[in-house]
Amino acid sequence: MTIRADVTVLGAGVNGMSTAYELCKRGRSVVLVDKVVMGAGASGSCDDMILLQSKKPGILLEMAFRSLELFRDLEKELPCDIEFDTRGGTILIETPEELAVMEDFVASQNRHGLAVEIVDARRIRELHPHVTDRVIASTYSARDSQVNPMLLMKGFFLGATAKGLTFLRRSRPESLSPRNGRWEIKLSTGETLETGSVVNAAGAWANEICGLLGLEFPIAPRKGQVLVTEQLPPLGATNVWSAQYIVSKLRPAGVPAPGAAPWMSGPEEARKAADFGLGFAFTGTHSGNYLIGSTRENAGFDKTTVPEALGLLARQVIHYFPVMKDVHFIRTFAGLRPSTPDGMPVIGEVPGFPGFFMAAGHEGDGIALSPITGRVTADLVEGRKPEFSLESFRPERFLEGQGDLDEAASG
Ligand SMILES: Cc1cc2nc3c(=O)[nH]c(=O)nc-3n(C[C@H](O)[C@H](O)[C@H](O)COP(=O)(O)OP(=O)(O)OC[C@H]3O[C@@H](n4cnc5c(N)ncnc54)[C@H](O)[C@@H]3O)c2cc1C
Repeated sequence: MTIRADVTVLGAGVNGMSTAYELCKRGRSVVLVDKVVMGAGASGSCDDMILLQSKKPGILLEMAFRSLELFRDLEKELPCDIEFDTRGGTILIETPEELAVMEDFVASQNRHGLAVEIVDARRIRELHPHVTDRVIASTYSARDSQVNPMLLMKGFFLGATAKGLTFLRRSRPESLSPRNGRWEIKLSTGETLETGSVVNAAGAWANEICGLLGLEFPIAPRKGQVLVTEQLPPLGATNVWSAQYIVSKLRPAGVPAPGAAPWMSGPEEARKAADFGLGFAFTGTHSGNYLIGSTRENAGFDKTTVPEALGLLARQVIHYFPVMKDVHFIRTFAGLRPSTPDGMPVIGEVPGFPGFFMAAGHEGDGIALSPITGRVTADLVEGRKPEFSLESFRPERFLEGQGDLDEAASG
């Protein structure tokens, strides 16, 4: 059977769903294909934060600001509740050295329009009565928000389906061929798609699809392990991270990991924590379960959770919130963030392959950036100028030395 549509979106994670939704809203016919099911990738195995504070001033922060506005619209526009909430966020600071770094970081964020402040030990205890005495200060931003990623995808799906989306699950492209200015896609389930454009939104697996065109992008999985608690009464006013988490996220290659934290047994455990890329993120869901994350590991496509890493996460949360020692952890999971070497997503048309677009590689920001990603990708597909310069995200930056793209495209 041949299905004809304006656009094929490959990958039903939050970015593929957002793109499909946006295109359907604009009256395009869209086929969405996933090799498993909606949310089988990182978007179904992640935290729920729309975090502004973690971002260095620049294009990602600007896009996160815009996404936050779009989330407010989506909350009203999508046909189901997405559990969008603005509780604010705090980054816990334990040492004068961390305080100095965070003061600089906050000052630069303030200069770029993000209202974050450093609050003292008294104020942090008002926000978080259960926090350890070791915390000497924290940041506070009233704008950090959260959304339920599964409900967000459901909302995009229901909204797009109401506007004619065709969703093919448990199916994957086996070949992608340019034909007379359009694309012919043979699927593993036997269908043939004939579409004007193709959007590769396959997250950490995006490269598998690029391989069908003889291309290789350095988009690689970065594993994150998470613990989930039983339902609890609210433990504090905001979502929480540690300054070490930000350091782990922003630390440039070559800069050594911080030494042993006070709750660690010694340098050997500090080394293990660094190998796992251990950070601290603590968010309460609408149902009362807390998500305790997470690691950042280069472990290929392995999604197993490892007792050693989970043990570190558990001891770390008990360190920050001693009351957690009496709490049951009911579940663990791991997800694969789609990472790139420069920490920027890949969004744009691939040179030499007219009508083939990338929308992948958002690493730890894919939920937060999904509304704006869907929008700018839909703009590119429609040949409109996006509201942001996408210069930093251009696919070309990773394609140097990959031969004659025009020849590959015509072959
Ligand atoms: C532990 C953890 C915590 C996180 N916390 C946050 C957070 O708090 N806030 C935030 O903004 N981000 C967070 N992230 C990052 C976020 O989850 C990702 O950036 C985002 O989910 C990526 O979405 P995506 O749609 O690009 O890819 P994915 O969700 O990975 O979707 C890709 C889809 O493509 C499909 N696919 C793969 N190969 C093919 C193929 N050949 N053909 C068709 N389909 C295919 C897969 O089945 C999958 O459904 C976290 C991630 C992890 C792991």
